[in-house]
Amino acid sequence: MAVCDLCASKAVWRDPASGAVLCGDHFSAWYEEGVRDAIEKYAMIPSGSRVAVGLSGGKDSTVLLTVLAKLNLDAEFVAITVDEGIANYRDDTISAAVSLVKRLGVEHRIVSFADVCGKTLDELLVSAPERACSVCGTLRRRALNAAARDAGASLIATGHCMDDEAQSVLMNYLRGDIRRVAENYHTNAGDLFIPRIKPLCRCTERATVAYGIVNRLLTPLPECPYTKYALRAGIRTELGVLEHKYPGTLSNIVSGQERLIAKLGVMQGEVTEMGVCERCGEPTQNRLCAACTLIEKLEHLE
Ligand code: SF4
Repeated sequence: MAVCDLCASKAVWRDPASGAVLCGDHFSAWYEEGVRDAIEKYAMIPSGSRVAVGLSGGKDSTVLLTVLAKLNLDAEFVAITVDEGIANYRDDTISAAVSLVKRLGVEHRIVSFADVCGKTLDELLVSAPERACSVCGTLRRRALNAAARDAGASLIATGHCMDDEAQSVLMNYLRGDIRRVAENYHTNAGDLFIPRIKPLCRCTERATVAYGIVNRLLTPLPECPYTKYALRAGIRTELGVLEHKYPGTLSNIVSGQERLIAKLGVMQGEVTEMGVCERCGEPTQNRLCAACTLIEKLEHLE
């Protein structure tokens, strides 16, 4: 039986980068300090902040809220769950989110796509299920932004881990979306949207799941029925294979993006004129915001 490098207890984690072998307690402490280091390195949470935490009830956001609540930061948290309206999927994750916030004693708000646009995701996708993830992502960003603003939050924390970051970089390249390649990191400061932070951005999905298991945070949940349409699902599989074969691949992609952003710093500082959407009043550079543009397109398909 492998034992912890720091005590005689049974080991539960071998760190692929350093080779360190840790028991549950030391692994949890190491993971939590990694999150704290990322928050401090990127100055994510100024003292006294009220932070909206996107809480789907899935593994990443469950670990995120638990760790944030444990770190004794000078900040207040409000969890926000977005109910997209996906049959046989979302109800279970919402129940998991509700029991977590009760355990942690964190304020909780639930907003639904039906509140945002009068329809569930299932209803919106009747004629175009293959567009599920782009519709879902766009409407979720809008719902989260409005709910965070209503809750008086100055930041939105999401549970994106290093794997998600690396996947996003590749997805943006594959779509030829160079603007997002240069902008998609840590915050969207400089516009009227609530800035976003990703405190788990330096943690791998493997470590995040391990933290959830070691701390008994995770319960089996169903998979979203639209996953089969997700470009991200294919990229996750391919990157998982590459990371296994060539450890450090995920970290190299994310660090490479950081270096690219540093080189293109001028793009980050660009000031864009923002107006408001004619249909919903949310901030946008165009006549309609991205969410309303999508809804209009889907309405024409019906
Ligand atoms: Fe939304 Fe796609 Fe994720 Fe399902 S898999 S919750 S449709 S982004």
